[in-house]
Amino acid sequence: MLETVLLTVFGMVVLVLIINVPFWARKHSLYNRRDRFECKLCGNCCRFRVTPLTGEDVRRLEEAGLGDGVDRDRMSTGRVNGRCVFLVDDRCTAYEHRPQVCRDFPFFTLYGLGYAERAPFCPALEELEDG
Ligand code: SF4
Ligand code: SF4
Repeated sequence: MLETVLLTVFGMVVLVLIINVPFWARKHSLYNRRDRFECKLCGNCCRFRVTPLTGEDVRRLEEAGLGDGVDRDRMSTGRVNGRCVFLVDDRCTAYEHRPQVCRDFPFFTLYGLGYAERAPFCPALEELEDG
């Protein structure tokens, strides 16, 4: 009985790996080409994704007098009509003090492995994928 359970779990893990490895390889390959990424300044990443904040982001924004745009309950920037509160006329009004995630997007690391976030709304990432 125990052997059957262990074999089933092992099989599921292998299946998950088989499905996900090509997906991750693609994201890692994009990360390795990040020096060719040219942001189009479209502001879509400020509209179509929540902007999580670290404690350091909160401190920096508050010290810059931008605390009203911080949602401390959700540890994210505030949202107006679905977009980040700091996005005005397609420009970031907190640019000098913007959160770390905005500086890094769409390239991140997880356990030391670099990857590009899946972001179909990002034209620059699409261009990188096509290139
Ligand atoms: S802080 Fe600025 S860069 Fe970051 S999501 Fe908001 S508007 Fe965009
Ligand atoms: S969605 Fe992509 S291209 Fe547009 S501003 Fe964000 S990072 Fe730049």
